[in-house]
Amino acid sequence: MSEPTLNDARSSALYAEALRVLPGGVNSPVRAMRAIGRDPIFVARGEGPEIVDADGNRYVDYVCSWGPLIHGHAHPQVVAAVGEAAARGTSFGAPTAGEVELAEEVVARFASVEMVRMTSSGTEASMSALRLARAATGRETILKFSGAYHGHVDGLLAEAGSGLATQGIPASPGVPAAATAATVIVPWNDPDALLAATEAHELAAIVAEPYPANMGLVPPADGFLELLRARADATGALLVLDEVITGFRVARGGAQERAGVRADLTIMGKVLGGGVPAAAYAGPRALMERIAPAGDVYQAGTLSGNPLAVAAGLATLRLLDDDAYARLGATTERLAAGLHDAAASAGRAVQVVSVPGLLTVFFSADPVRDYAGAVACDRDAHAAWCRALLKRGVYPPPSQFEAWFPSLAHDDDAIERTLAAAAAAFAEVG
Ligand code: PLP
Repeated sequence: MSEPTLNDARSSALYAEALRVLPGGVNSPVRAMRAIGRDPIFVARGEGPEIVDADGNRYVDYVCSWGPLIHGHAHPQVVAAVGEAAARGTSFGAPTAGEVELAEEVVARFASVEMVRMTSSGTEASMSALRLARAATGRETILKFSGAYHGHVDGLLAEAGSGLATQGIPASPGVPAAATAATVIVPWNDPDALLAATEAHELAAIVAEPYPANMGLVPPADGFLELLRARADATGALLVLDEVITGFRVARGGAQERAGVRADLTIMGKVLGGGVPAAAYAGPRALMERIAPAGDVYQAGTLSGNPLAVAAGLATLRLLDDDAYARLGATTERLAAGLHDAAASAGRAVQVVSVPGLLTVFFSADPVRDYAGAVACDRDAHAAWCRALLKRGVYPPPSQFEAWFPSLAHDDDAIERTLAAAAAAFAEVG
């Protein structure tokens, strides 16, 4: 049988053009495929679980826009909702009924949330949640975990995961030293380091991804999230859970519902906007009413609560009932078990880690508990496996420091094709 190849002539030509006008040829670093040693693939359209590239190649897509597309690409109800909203006007800069409905939907899902403030990106939501936490506590220092990513907020670009980990950027030039001076970094899943840091510093907030997915997926060890809650309570810090990835995905009420841990403030994004820019920070009335114009903590946005994003978000959330979460959980489990078996058959030691709607294949013989464990993976072998998958019509996140995003559109056929490609890719890589 001849080796599969990828005809990407049109993508290559577009990339050459893009390099002239876009830094690195992309509008966000994670879209580059440098970490897996190839040029990016330019996408022409998406259909359910698949994308079609500029050369006409089809792939089962596990990036799904890095999380928003929990129903897959171009879901008819989401597309119709956006079209109808656009026909009524694309933005008003004045309140609309849809924003209230969307906030009510969020409040109904998250036990810790009474009020919501929408933004356009997760980065803005993180930045604003930390401003609110600092104002509410009268303290400045924030604790974050190494390998966690909370958007490109100055003070949080320290030992961050996602694109920074992929590119090997420990701290970005251009961030004032003062911005990161107020950030304390602790290894994930390390109770002793957490205890020491929470004793040594008067913290405004402990900020965490409850199931970190920006160093690959590294779930909390038993009791670790409960320890975050207990240390916040004991020290007067706020627990800020960044559910930009996990919110509306791992359960109806996000990781907080699944893990049974309450946040003081929650950061949301991705699924909330159904593929159109929307994010939010949210919490109890007493905290949220510190935000202007109810209070004096200032934050604003020309396109916050944009009608297209609200329409896409509402259509997306309304399709997410209990049955949808059961299906997403079953799909993820089947994919995880199949990938595990495919690796085992090829004699390749990997750790397949999953929670409903998220998955990472770590090229490691040992369990990955923290960022150091993710860094220690065999990234060259992972890169070769990703290239082998692409040639066989499967589009994985092109970095060991990211999670796969299976969606509700990933049906039996898509999973079977993925597992066949994965087995062949493991056999090729050895
Ligand atoms: N928080 C987490 C956990 C994320 O994964 C991301 C983005 O991937 C962000 C925040 C930032 O969101 P955005 O890219 O919308 O600014």
